[in-house]
Amino acid sequence: MADYKKVIEEIEDSLRDRESLKKNIWEWHKKHVLGVGLPELEIAFESGEGVRVRDFEGKEYLDFMGQTLNVFVGHHHKKVIEAAIQQMEKLSFCTMLAANEPKSKLAKLINGITAEPLKMLYTVSGGSEANESAMKLARRARYKVGAYKFISRLGAYHGATFGACAATGLVMSKPAWIEPLPTGFVHVPLPYCYRCSFGKKYPDCEIECAKIIEQYIIQEGPEVYAGVIMEPILSAKGVVVPPEEYVKMVRDICTRYGIILIFDEIVSGFGRTGKMFAYEHFDVVPDIMTLGKGMSSGYAAIAGMMVTEELGKLGYAPNYHGFTMSGYPLANAIAYANIKAIIEENLVENCAEAGEYFMGQLKELEKDFEVIGDVRGKGLLVSIEIVRDKKSKIPDFEVAQKITDFCKEKGFLFHFNARGDTVNLLFTPPLCVSKEDIDQGVTVLKQALSRFS
Ligand code: PMP
Repeated sequence: MADYKKVIEEIEDSLRDRESLKKNIWEWHKKHVLGVGLPELEIAFESGEGVRVRDFEGKEYLDFMGQTLNVFVGHHHKKVIEAAIQQMEKLSFCTMLAANEPKSKLAKLINGITAEPLKMLYTVSGGSEANESAMKLARRARYKVGAYKFISRLGAYHGATFGACAATGLVMSKPAWIEPLPTGFVHVPLPYCYRCSFGKKYPDCEIECAKIIEQYIIQEGPEVYAGVIMEPILSAKGVVVPPEEYVKMVRDICTRYGIILIFDEIVSGFGRTGKMFAYEHFDVVPDIMTLGKGMSSGYAAIAGMMVTEELGKLGYAPNYHGFTMSGYPLANAIAYANIKAIIEENLVENCAEAGEYFMGQLKELEKDFEVIGDVRGKGLLVSIEIVRDKKSKIPDFEVAQKITDFCKEKGFLFHFNARGDTVNLLFTPPLCVSKEDIDQGVTVLKQALSRFS
């Protein structure tokens, strides 16, 4: 039998001095950590404060990634940390079959900040699970008519588990070896005006990209479709902000045919777009809204969904759909403290203001640099599409990579989103970012653009 205590002793011994700590982080990471498949940053983070993170070499970075688009209140938020400690002192965990104070408080709080029909909260540990739960509930609700299919969009990301992956329309997340995925998913073109799939121009297009959803439903019969799943503002392929009518049209189509409308607000929920939820930009409310990232700013693994009373009462019983970590007190207390901080520190308002300022700066750069094909965004969900030149719109992966690498070297981090047919730089800083932080980032970006464009 292995000497388990010796394993621990050896680990702790080899981390005692700073040099071996740094060396072993990399060595163990390379040998024993299975990555997600994307190229890694080649940074080992040690600490963070607000919009800045620091690596083990002491180098500081301006975090316009918000890590995985999820650090909303900023790093090292004292009140969120304090709430976590307080809850751990009382009760870290209890079964999903019991009520607990943080779970009830969080449900009441989210109910208080969402639109009227959304009443009941279901919590899980990640966004993919949230979307699985939403689609299972939509199938449950539409089972009586025999409906099982979903419509989602090409280029959208909804998660890495099998069902969420089937809903995903982003081809790079669906390699051939993953098949067979669950069947019954139809993918329609995005409201992506910069590269319209129908070759049309807004507003003369009559929002063809929304109409096609109805065409599918009519052609196959509404009794075939359980739901439509979409982000009101898409984040995975550069930010895609649809024309206002689009979201309303999709809502109307779903209502007309009794189909469940699921908004994936895992990225956009809790203020990222300058409103508490992205649906507010369009004055449209879904039947189910999935939530994640900004729900805890990464202080706990928690995601969830808000559903209408009708769907909530229907629920999953007498069958079982639950997760060990559904509704456990620690994560719920952290989410509560995080959302409270978003509200008390006026981070949604700051996001709207800072986002507008940031977009303004990027629009200025767009005028000067040929490689910026398009600047799109809402609030602090902002992207720039990198092209060879404005006329050809040919994606320039190499230049986008060089800009990203240069900025990282200078301590400015953001997402490099190469998607096969397009490439975007995506910026999702914590919502507490200041104009000075934005100026600092834009200065570095401008240097990169001047060098590589
Ligand atoms: N939906 C969207 C829009 C996402 O961006 C993500 C994650 N990036 C997910 C779902 C899946 O969330 P998770 O990675 O927490 O499973």
